[in-house]
Amino acid sequence: MIHLQYDLFRRLWFGSLLAYNPRIKGGMVTQTTQRILVTGAGGQIGSELTLVLRDRYGGDAVVASDIHEPMTPALQRTGPFEIVDVLDAERLHAMIDQYKIDTVYHMAAILSATGEENPQLAWKVNIHGLTNVLEAARARALHRVFCPSSIAVFGPETPRDLAPQETVLRPTTVYGVTKVTGELLCEYYVNRYGLDIRGLRYPGIISSETPPGGGTTDYAVDIFYQAIEHGSYTCFVRPDTVLPMMYMPDCIKATVDLMDADFSRLSHHCDFNVAGMSFSAEELAAEIRKRIPEFECTYAPDFRQTIADSWPQRVDDRAAREEWDWTPAYDLERMTAHMIERLRQRLGSTATRSSSSAG
Ligand code: NAD
Repeated sequence: MIHLQYDLFRRLWFGSLLAYNPRIKGGMVTQTTQRILVTGAGGQIGSELTLVLRDRYGGDAVVASDIHEPMTPALQRTGPFEIVDVLDAERLHAMIDQYKIDTVYHMAAILSATGEENPQLAWKVNIHGLTNVLEAARARALHRVFCPSSIAVFGPETPRDLAPQETVLRPTTVYGVTKVTGELLCEYYVNRYGLDIRGLRYPGIISSETPPGGGTTDYAVDIFYQAIEHGSYTCFVRPDTVLPMMYMPDCIKATVDLMDADFSRLSHHCDFNVAGMSFSAEELAAEIRKRIPEFECTYAPDFRQTIADSWPQRVDDRAAREEWDWTPAYDLERMTAHMIERLRQRLGSTATRSSSSAG
């Protein structure tokens, strides 16, 4: 009951603020041309997202940016690439002006495992970088901004089996703290300034094309490379560790679907739970073994086990299904079959990969 009243209040309050943004008319965000900036475009999600956005809107309409040259050559081949540190607000504004940007996908971040190694850096990039993007959006009246969140917003006090959309958010990692703060800050800019900011709580993302960037779910990618290249893997979480995961095609689809959604249907904006699949490390190993029978997986949990144990095993994504019709396409079996097929093709060719861990 209290929640329904709050929801009604949010809708009324937000409705009264729509007039603040000239691009939001009568509760509908008008579709203007898309001139897009992707920050952190060299990362695991950014590099694949950028290429999909370029397919959709044209290469020149999507500016990829990162703090260093990307490892994916296609990012520079298919459209503009700029070095942009999101901590440099002046450069961010200059890029928005130079390319007449109206939409930002803010993918630059420090992920969970790297964040625990350098909490101050995680706070700086994830909070000051986000603030710079939000301020640029406000100053330039940007059309729409995407700011990803994470299942890392949850903590040990969140129900583990099916984390609700509205629940206790008391994370134990600095990464989680920055993501909760980020969600609240984005929502504040929606309510206070009438900006159109949207975001998803991504689960662990698994990709056949790009390596993960320093998170706790990296094992679910590393295991495939090791199984194909060496026939064995030492996993850094226990076999019974269950976490929410998503295959990259679903991650990109969720991102694009949310950004395409009719604004007037959204009662949430920056914090959607979104589910793909959930499985334990040993279920993943068993699924791989169906296709690589000689594969052996051993387990040597490290500091990332504690992070994994603080996250829920599944998330309740009814809000995403109801407000913008979210449906994933990949389950464990389909994802595993596709990963192994793609990696066998890629590793048989010229593909290289940095060693890393994930988000
Ligand atoms: P990633 O680590 O692979 O990529 C992040 C990119 O940001 C890197 O290319 C890095 O060079 C760049 N970057 C770091 N500091 C920067 C700075 N100061 N200025 C500009 N760029 C900078 O991360 P990802 O997996 O692609 O994640 C993208 C977003 O999705 C992040 O917000 C992350 O928190 C979120 N997320 C990812 C996962 C996952 O499993 N990959 C899960 C949940 C949430």
